[in-house]
Amino acid sequence: PHLVPMKLQHTIDQILKLTHEQMVQSNIQLKNKCTAENDMIFGDAKLLSQALINLNLNAAEAIGEGGTITVGTLNCTYRFANGDSPEHAKTKHCIRLQITDTGKGIERKDLQKIFDPFFTSKSEGTGMGLSVAHGIINEHHGVIEVESEPGLGTTFYVYIPLLEEGI
Ligand code: ADP
Ligand code: MG
Repeated sequence: PHLVPMKLQHTIDQILKLTHEQMVQSNIQLKNKCTAENDMIFGDAKLLSQALINLNLNAAEAIGEGGTITVGTLNCTYRFANGDSPEHAKTKHCIRLQITDTGKGIERKDLQKIFDPFFTSKSEGTGMGLSVAHGIINEHHGVIEVESEPGLGTTFYVYIPLLEEGI
C-alpha cells in the first residue's frame, strides 16, 4: 500500500456518491452518522475505496430490496492486541467506521468463516470481498470486526489508527 496522510471522510463521501443511484433503485435508505471530528489517517485512498465498496455491496446484497444502510464514524480508542506478546497490546486513538445494514444477517456458524478467501453463501458469489477488505484494513494497521443478528442485520466496524499515532 502507499500510505499517505489523508482524510477518511473524503473516501467515504466518494463511495456514497458512487453507490447512491444503486441504493435508490433497490429502495435502500442511506443514513449518514459520520461524526468523527478527526479523520486524518495514513491511508491509501484507492485501497480503502475498494474495501468500502466491498462492505457496502455486501450490505446492499444482504438487504436485497427495501432497507437501511447506516454509515457512521466516530473517534475512539482501540486496544490493539499483539499476537506474539499479549502484554504488549497498544491502545491507540482511532477513527471507527461503521456500516450497519438491516439485511438478513449472518448465521453464528458462519461468523468465523466470512473473512476467509472464497467463503460465500451466495450462488454466484466469489467470496473475495471480505477477504480483500480484511487484507486492506490490515495493511492500514487497523482491525475489522463484525456483529450480526440473523434476521435483523449486520454491522461491520473498522478501526484505523489516526495519523497522530504515527506509522
Ligand atoms: P461474496 O459477497 O462474494 O459472497 P464476501 O467475501 O464479500 O463474498 O462475503 C462472504 C460472505 O459473508 C457472504 O457470502 C455472506 O454470507 C457473508 N456476508 C458478508 N457481508 C454480509 C452482510 N452485510 N450481511 C450478511 N452476510 C454478509
Ligand atoms: Mg461480497
